[in-house]
Amino acid sequence: MPSRKYDIGDTVMGRWPGSSLYYEVKVKAFNPSTQLYTVKYVDGTELELKEADIKRSQFFKSKRESSRSKSPSRRRSRSRSPGRPVRRSTSRGRDPNKEKESKIYDVLEVKLSPLPKSVINNANVQYEKKISTNNEVNSEVFHKVEFGQYEEKQKAVTVTAQNKVEALPEVDRADVRYNLRPRKEDNEKVSENFERKVEEVTVKSVRKSKTTELEFGGRIGAFIMIFVLPVIVFLLLVTCAKKDPSISNFPPSLPAFSTLWDSQVFGIVGLWFLLQVFLHLLPVGKVVDGLPLESGKKLKYRINGFYAILVCAVMVGAAIFYGTDFTYVHDHFLQFASSAFIFSVLLSLYLYIRSRWACKDELAPNGNSGNLFYDFFIGRELNPRVKSLDLKYFCELRPGLIGWVLINFSMALAEMKEQNIEYPSLAMILVNAFQLIYVLDALWNEEAILTTMDIVHDGFGYMLAFGDLVWVPFVYSLQAYYLVSHPNQLSWLFGAIIIILNGIGYLIFRKANSQKNLFRRNPHDSRVAHLKTISTATGKSLLVSGMWGFVRHPNYLGDIIMAFAWSLPCGFSHILPYFYVLYFTCLLIHREARDEHQCRKKYGSAWDEYCRQVRYRIIPGIY
Ligand code: NDP
Repeated sequence: MPSRKYDIGDTVMGRWPGSSLYYEVKVKAFNPSTQLYTVKYVDGTELELKEADIKRSQFFKSKRESSRSKSPSRRRSRSRSPGRPVRRSTSRGRDPNKEKESKIYDVLEVKLSPLPKSVINNANVQYEKKISTNNEVNSEVFHKVEFGQYEEKQKAVTVTAQNKVEALPEVDRADVRYNLRPRKEDNEKVSENFERKVEEVTVKSVRKSKTTELEFGGRIGAFIMIFVLPVIVFLLLVTCAKKDPSISNFPPSLPAFSTLWDSQVFGIVGLWFLLQVFLHLLPVGKVVDGLPLESGKKLKYRINGFYAILVCAVMVGAAIFYGTDFTYVHDHFLQFASSAFIFSVLLSLYLYIRSRWACKDELAPNGNSGNLFYDFFIGRELNPRVKSLDLKYFCELRPGLIGWVLINFSMALAEMKEQNIEYPSLAMILVNAFQLIYVLDALWNEEAILTTMDIVHDGFGYMLAFGDLVWVPFVYSLQAYYLVSHPNQLSWLFGAIIIILNGIGYLIFRKANSQKNLFRRNPHDSRVAHLKTISTATGKSLLVSGMWGFVRHPNYLGDIIMAFAWSLPCGFSHILPYFYVLYFTCLLIHREARDEHQCRKKYGSAWDEYCRQVRYRIIPGIY
């Protein structure tokens, strides 16, 4: 029977795949045939590690103590040890400056350990990268990976004392604590007070600094958008209700106030929101971890959106059985939109006010500029929660998204009533079916939202609250709203072509999102472990094959293709039903640029290498 070094239940230090960082883990199991240990990290992540990637805690303690001890007695005893190499120093004692330098150097060395085979499986990547962060840290790492084998040469990080201090916020604390690199008696000079600064900066690394890089046109852009976005929604809806929704009739004359407000409608919107909260909080469905926050903490999320839409479907069925007329939604559409708008403004105000009491490390990296309008628009808090209710996560997928399906359904009923037909038209059926599939897909794969930009990066403020509660349900249902009073006779052949187009878009969209989500959750997952990757200095890798090797942001491309397929059933008489695909393409191009910018900041030259290998962006031809 093969021997094993660690027992089940042992608490040891396990290396995080693809990095040199060691974290505390508990040994859960050992597989004698693969010789792999299943270990559980403190945050709950379970991975399989080789014995070589596991160390006893004492290993670090002894290294750390021996390298960092400032006790004179300790120094004496070490210098007297017969095992210690004879120093060439001519001085009687040891040069305290030199010793300090070597200690500091220990702390600062960054080591890139060999990657586990599964991560670099099939990789044939050869590149030299220079990591140059905004803070001008220069480290050189040479990677050579060939046909399933790898070889790695490391070069010590060469950093000047000054810019090292600035660079440290980028470095994980564990880098500093558990550096496995064998100590080198290096001659590099570093300033004396550096060690103290290292400690200071390490603590600072978990605190948030002010947002200086402003997006969406900065303060003025954000201010304008707060007012312009609702105006666009209302102009679109009013235009869509016109007999002739041509551009020549734009902008339409404003409707009477009474067509915008109805307290009963406002009550229904409030009840709908509460119903969704209730369904979300039911102890049904699994609870999963989100991605680690900057503090290292992981939040829990309940996954039960799919159940929620099923319950809503049953409730709607029952309501129809008892004679409820859902064309009410169509008939009061503007009032529903204004109620949802008021709701989103109230929610945004609440979010902004409560964020004043949020801890600094709960703030979003991009919504903390200090400007009232900008921060209100972007959202200051990253994951605002009321007890276990995560407001952003909830709003992203529930009231607006499920509401969108219900609105589409009411439009189908309204079309039958208005056009005096027994069944909805083919165009209406396609629009309803495509968008229903999109929503069901989002809810079925609810967990995947936890790795999206909205959840990981953006704060929760007016932008997302308005987007989730107003823009999505009322603008995305524009095609169905349009078809109610602007019927389009669709041939079966054209219908079939549109279905194929939507199918292609959906496959690209789904496969891309699933690959990234699986990979981010567990790079060793058998469904993605075969894909080629590029490792980055953060310890995370980037996919360079599969969907993400075909084009950058393949998920956006799939989404745009689908958006086009949703507009086509409305025919070519007016541009209005194409508003969605036009706006959405602009949104995703802008979003892609934002994400590229973020990723370049995060991954430095590894991102450039990814862009070199995967040249195409979502609009083919742009590179
Ligand atoms: P993504 O889900 O594409 O997430 C972007 C992140 O993916 C990056 O920040 C990076 O994060 C990671 N990433 C990028 N490239 C790679 C790579 N090569 N390998 C591994 N990871 C990579 O973005 P969104 O959140 O914007 O979109 C999610 C989905 O939602 C998309 O399908 C999009 O079309 C859709 N969407 C729909 C909208 C709608 O209104 N209908 C609006 C917006 C989006 P990291 O490396 O840190 O993990």
